[in-house]
Amino acid sequence: MIVVFLGPPGAGKGTQCKLVCDKYNLSHLSSGDILRRERSENTDLGKEAQGYMDSGKLVPDDLIVAMMMKEIQTAGEGKDGFILDGFPRTIGQAKELDASLEKAGNKIDIVLNLQVDDGKLEERVTGRRSCAKCGGAYHTVFSPPKQDNQCDAGCGELTQRADDNAETVRSRIENYHAQTAPLVDYYTDKGNICNVDGNVTIDEVKVSVIAGVDKVQG
Ligand code: AMP
Repeated sequence: MIVVFLGPPGAGKGTQCKLVCDKYNLSHLSSGDILRRERSENTDLGKEAQGYMDSGKLVPDDLIVAMMMKEIQTAGEGKDGFILDGFPRTIGQAKELDASLEKAGNKIDIVLNLQVDDGKLEERVTGRRSCAKCGGAYHTVFSPPKQDNQCDAGCGELTQRADDNAETVRSRIENYHAQTAPLVDYYTDKGNICNVDGNVTIDEVKVSVIAGVDKVQG
């Protein structure tokens, strides 16, 4: 099964992806995580992507498409498929993805579109904290750690993504509307989209997401 998650920054894509991956035995391919790994390894791609990421702009399509196509080739190995989180983010990327999947005799089974009001996004993103050691995810307001800025698993201090500051978030939201939101119409025309209200609690979103996936899973 191939699942795509669409939604603005702070919509809860990462959280829902983890839940869906566990339930359906899928691998999680997050373009943002892959780029952050490239950056931490100081690769040419990581260096090239850095300026775009820090200012909240999209990394150019050719770089992203090449990176993701490589990952997709081995993504479903030992699993029942994969989830794309944060890719595609432009019509150009979506077309390249469709063409490449078609060539391999595959297709996207469902596009889950998490819809969240703009007014909620900034607080959701700027409050995000994570543990670099165990991957634990927190939010200063919505799921705070037991001790201020400390991982509950005893790993130490939590960190905040460099691009999760208010100014960059606003630019990321603007770019979402300009470049990514047109994908909603693109996938609606293809008939494989499932719109999910992401304004509610994580558990409530999860119920809608699972109902959507169950429908296509047959
Ligand atoms: P994310 O972790 O999904 O919020 O992505 C962090 C940053 O990585 C974005 O603000 C972009 O600069 C870059 N990025 C991630 N995915 C893509 C993509 N599909 N196309 C272009 N840039 C991307």
